[in-house]
Amino acid sequence: MKLHEYQSKLLFAEHGIPIPEGKVATTPKEAKEISKALGGRVVVKSQVLVGGRGKAGGIKLANSPKEAETIASKILSLKIKGLPVRKVLIDKAADITSEIYLGITNDRAARKPVFIASAAGGIDIEKVAAKTPEKIIKIHIDPILGLQNYQILNLAIGIELTRELWIEFNKISHGLWQAFKNNDATLAEINPLVITADNHLLAVDGKMVIDDNALFRHQDIEEGRDLDVEVEAEIKAKEYGLTYIKLDGEIGCMVNGAGLAMATMDIIKHFGGAPANFLDIGGGADEEKVAAALKIILKDTNVKAVLINIFGGITRCDLVAKGILEALNEIEPDIPIIVRLVGTNEKEGRALLNDSDMETAKSLAEAAQKSVLAAKEEH
Ligand code: GDP
Ligand code: MN
Repeated sequence: MKLHEYQSKLLFAEHGIPIPEGKVATTPKEAKEISKALGGRVVVKSQVLVGGRGKAGGIKLANSPKEAETIASKILSLKIKGLPVRKVLIDKAADITSEIYLGITNDRAARKPVFIASAAGGIDIEKVAAKTPEKIIKIHIDPILGLQNYQILNLAIGIELTRELWIEFNKISHGLWQAFKNNDATLAEINPLVITADNHLLAVDGKMVIDDNALFRHQDIEEGRDLDVEVEAEIKAKEYGLTYIKLDGEIGCMVNGAGLAMATMDIIKHFGGAPANFLDIGGGADEEKVAAALKIILKDTNVKAVLINIFGGITRCDLVAKGILEALNEIEPDIPIIVRLVGTNEKEGRALLNDSDMETAKSLAEAAQKSVLAAKEEH
């Protein structure tokens, strides 16, 4: 579960990390009032669960309450990467002299949390990581021993932090580790942690992701879940017991079984395409589930072709075929659909699909190639 910036920063503050004074507003008028209370100069920050808000126009400085109101009204009508902005955080503006990146996540290969820091923080951290990886310092944390002072010192030296800030940096690092550990997070990130004009450290942006499997231990956090701004399709999928994750490609995938879904995505990539989603309809899926899945896939406007890859075991191919036909009846999509059905009742399933416009394939490789080609032609 992803937390909003304001939620993440509140958890940071509970662990002794300094954050700007601020409050959430849902209307321009509220934004104006908050800005007044904060002394005028504020940053208006869209609260949406995606990165790169700054570049999308979702973060703006305002010099007066009036200006905060105007900007808030603009930002509250934005959609950022498809997500509507329903809340803005109004933070007292900071005078920034430099921006540091600080984050903790799990390094699965090392089987340990990894603490990452860079002096080149801010909105272009991904570029820094890709082009000048030597500017990014990583230190693994032993989960039993926890983060050690000498490790924090090594990080501070690694990012060439001036000595006067070492004590603050130490406190913030411990705070971030505690916030990560105590909340069962898979990510706790401050980007940027800024050095202010009066030479202090301040966490201007915050991001946390909590492990869904540990949410039962954090009911207070789960109550803050913002269904409103989670990807709508993912919520719909949950309702039908489908596992759906939206991705950036253009080939919609409907597959039964997580392993087969992964293999399908890999083979699409192998043939030069990109999957638009991960979707596992699960074992024993019936018509209703299949129809729901197809509808969710077709709602994504990036999708230029659909690949349905079903291996019938418990799942019956004829029921899947019926589900597909039912969904097609309702939606009448104008993009190509390629189907590969094998296993239990495959003959019956294929017979049902024979009269439709769908293309069938005998092997997964053939189906993947056909869908990559079809998606390219649709462009
Ligand atoms: P993101 O784009 O979603 O990562 O949003 P951030 O909260 O990190 O803001 C993006 C950028 O806006 C930061 O890297 C800063 O350069 C700038 N910014 C954010 N808050 C302030 C502030 O209080 N004062 C100033 N001057 N700039 C800010
Ligand atoms: Mn940021």
